[in-house]
Amino acid sequence: MSPQSEPQVLLTRQEIAATVNRLATEIMKDYHGKNPLLIGILKGSFIFMADLVRSLDFPLTMEFIAFSSYRRGTQSSEKIQVVQDLRSPINGRDVLVIEDIVDTGLTYDFLLQHLRKKEPASLKLCALTDKPSRRKVPVVIDYLGFTVPNKFIVGYGLDCDEKFRHLPDICFFGDI
Ligand code: 5GP
Repeated sequence: MSPQSEPQVLLTRQEIAATVNRLATEIMKDYHGKNPLLIGILKGSFIFMADLVRSLDFPLTMEFIAFSSYRRGTQSSEKIQVVQDLRSPINGRDVLVIEDIVDTGLTYDFLLQHLRKKEPASLKLCALTDKPSRRKVPVVIDYLGFTVPNKFIVGYGLDCDEKFRHLPDICFFGDI
């Protein structure tokens, strides 16, 4: 991809809003009355999480977790570390992880092992986007928004070197 070129729209804000509503309906059916804990992965999931929780009409709590910034531009290394951990215990809680994108799957795999040690009652994943063509480890996505092509995407929380997070649509660079 070429961040010098203009970003082109892959998923419009209207498509994203409809999909967030669809995901909220699915999550409401499964978690109503369970007081789940939603864990957002910073920073990429912050806009998705903000929209999703406002469509969930039942009691819930939220936490955030951040990993070392191991990605520079569109390149990633495989070394992952927690830089901001959860502030409250999760043992016995029904936990739903909120991800912006599952790419190689290494981040979620690492998070799963980290969270399992904290003994939640249940642990599921909601991902706005999935890029299955790049997977290195298997990941079960319980609630999925969109499957995306093997393109580096930005916008709606997703960045390239901290830029483009604020774009309301999900965009890519170059040809599809
Ligand atoms: P994984 O560990 O599954 O390879 O990648 C997870 C993280 O890498 C995501 O949470 C996201 O921060 C980043 N990432 C992976 N693919 C993309 C992409 O296409 N665009 C952006 N902006 N970030 C990505």
